Amino acid sequence: MSISSRHAELMTAFGIDVRGDRSVHSPIDGTELARVAFDDAAAVDRKIGAAADAFKSWRTVPAPRRGELVRLFGEELRAGKDALGRLVTVECGKILEEGRGEVQEMIDICDFAVGLSRQLYGLTIASERPGHRMMETWHPAGPVAVISAFNFPVAVWAWNAMLALVCGDSVIWKPSEKTPLTALAVQALFERAVAKFGAAPPALSQIVLGDRACGEQLARDARIPVVSATGSTAMGRALAPAVAKRFGRAILELGGNNAMIVCPSARLDLAERAILFAAVGTAGQRCTTLRRLFVHESVAEKLVDRLTAHYARLAIGDPLEKGTLIGPLIDRAGFDGMERALARAAEEGGRVFGGGRVLADRYPDAWYARPALVRMPRQTALVCEETFAPILYVMTWTDFDAVLAEHNAVPQGLSSSIFTRDLEEAERFLAAAGSDCGIANVNIGPSGAEIGGAFGGEKETGGGRESGSDAWKAYMRRQTTTVNYTNELPLAQGIAFDV
Ligand code: NAD
Repeated sequence: MSISSRHAELMTAFGIDVRGDRSVHSPIDGTELARVAFDDAAAVDRKIGAAADAFKSWRTVPAPRRGELVRLFGEELRAGKDALGRLVTVECGKILEEGRGEVQEMIDICDFAVGLSRQLYGLTIASERPGHRMMETWHPAGPVAVISAFNFPVAVWAWNAMLALVCGDSVIWKPSEKTPLTALAVQALFERAVAKFGAAPPALSQIVLGDRACGEQLARDARIPVVSATGSTAMGRALAPAVAKRFGRAILELGGNNAMIVCPSARLDLAERAILFAAVGTAGQRCTTLRRLFVHESVAEKLVDRLTAHYARLAIGDPLEKGTLIGPLIDRAGFDGMERALARAAEEGGRVFGGGRVLADRYPDAWYARPALVRMPRQTALVCEETFAPILYVMTWTDFDAVLAEHNAVPQGLSSSIFTRDLEEAERFLAAAGSDCGIANVNIGPSGAEIGGAFGGEKETGGGRESGSDAWKAYMRRQTTTVNYTNELPLAQGIAFDV
């Protein structure tokens, strides 16, 4: 059975209309999967208006009841996990195991959000005035726009939308123009949950399909108080000022350039496995992909030899096939970016192992690349950039302070890790003067986060936090309240103002 006919079944399963004018191709073999229609500016404007209306009624629904809708959606995801996971693979090219994992992540955040719907805790605060009570209450913020990237085509939306929905917000989702089909499938599942729920306002969660211009329209619109945007640093750099100009709130989840420090005491067998998953998994197209490896000189040859042996026999191929570990890059531009980076690495003194196109005869319209391991003499300008492809730059170190400084000397600050059995090294890595990233791990790799923690990073990664912990607060507005239950009117700071 060809991929496209298998895909046709998926389209039918999710009731997706495939008769638009924009072609969507599978990165697996380049076949056309479907045609979708983009929303024009007027349609986007109408949808924003509808989201504002939906918000007005949804914000008054008790939060635990809002959680019930999220619970029902989680049930739809459980039932649809295989089909949706497969569609993720077909549309963005990650292996089936990871496609299903992405849907599991959506289910996990649903569970988290359902619990949250019975919390959304505020504070009571001691008042300095007698007979007064001070409180802090969290209220729904308004329509939330979610702009997402191709590489996590469904989970990123769920991280945002599930929190936003229990927080009392409506949602407008602009998926990547490269992955509209998975978004339409998720919308179909969401609508099934809404039908079971019964009383949700129309347009509670909508999709707008379009490219950058569509994202820019959402960024500019003052009816949307919160814009959560995931993608490249270039995108964030353009979007953030547009949101700030109208005093909106941007949650930015941008590029990463994640590193691992391997110390002399590290369990090399564990480090090796962690490196492989983090560096070549998802064909190097995760924001948390391991891109910089700092290995202590005393263990470098041993570890690099082992890694090189693995790199020589990585299973690259159709991500739908069992046993494949590395699927295709998303498109030709992704492959060209990798080639350019490898050429530059060689110019900057790197020794390149791997790289190059594979399977071109079998898939002339797809872009499969052999992951590359590059021994760099030092952290050059190229190594400080994020190239969204499976390239791992390997450098050696001897002094812990110096390697920590190198680790932090890049513009991005998403995820980081250290492999060591030395308590001092581990604690120094996690301390205030240690890793400057939003995520810092010990004896696991930098990728593959759980939903319970806040996810995001510093510096050019944008500073946003999503998913677990108290990330929900970004989707609400904070209100400080003081109640006087006496016959007196004392002023704060003891100010006398007798009239
Ligand atoms: P991209 O920046 O090309 O596109 C991301 C989204 O932003 C798309 O929906 C696109 O249409 C939209 N967009 C682009 N320019 C815009 C603008 N000026 N205004 C509004 N919207 C705009 O990114 P991509 O190639 O899809 O994804 C890869 C990048 O995303 C990598 O840099 C990766 O590190 C990053 N990423 C970050 C995270 C994170 O959580 N930090 C997660 C996934 C991906």
